[in-house]
Amino acid sequence: MKIICVGRNFSEHAAELKNELPTEPVLFIKPDTAVLKPNQNFYHPPFSQDIHHECEVFFRIGKKGRYIKRQFAALHIDSIGLGIDFTARDLQAQQKQKGLPWEIAKAFNSSAPISPFYPLEQFPDWDNINFRLEVNGETRQVGNTRDMIFKIDFLIEYISQYFTLKTGDLIFCGTPAGVARVQPGDHLVGYLESTKAIDFYVR
Ligand code: ZN
Repeated sequence: MKIICVGRNFSEHAAELKNELPTEPVLFIKPDTAVLKPNQNFYHPPFSQDIHHECEVFFRIGKKGRYIKRQFAALHIDSIGLGIDFTARDLQAQQKQKGLPWEIAKAFNSSAPISPFYPLEQFPDWDNINFRLEVNGETRQVGNTRDMIFKIDFLIEYISQYFTLKTGDLIFCGTPAGVARVQPGDHLVGYLESTKAIDFYVR
């Protein structure tokens, strides 16, 4: 499986990183080695001093497809979850400055902690899902999928023209404002509506 991530999909987050608003989705991919299973602790890697949390809703693909039209997108999704797109902001800044790809800053081992997969019936209105992240009991990020610049049906159409979507692939839909550094000892707890979806420590 693979994770397809959408960058700059919430305008306030794009602004906080001083990025322009995209007219097309910004995509990048994390490999299966980036997945950190539910409630497993994240070991802070030694190659970065500035790992940021980006709390994101994800959709899981339940049916393989390519060139999927947006009106059929729902047929290809089987569940929803909450994830963290951990980002080595220092490495990303260096790569951006050199005009190089961000891969090492985004796709490293365990850079994608995920929640369990929740059935669609639990969140039937997926363009209106509240989610938030607490760090050490303090709310850091609050979002709602209605504020996504590119909605999931459009994303499935857009992504699947380049990358075949296979069963088990995850689409991370981008982060709202409030990204910040994590350090060993931090306790991350994330909610999809009132469901506690994520709960782990940085070690
Ligand atoms: Zn992200």
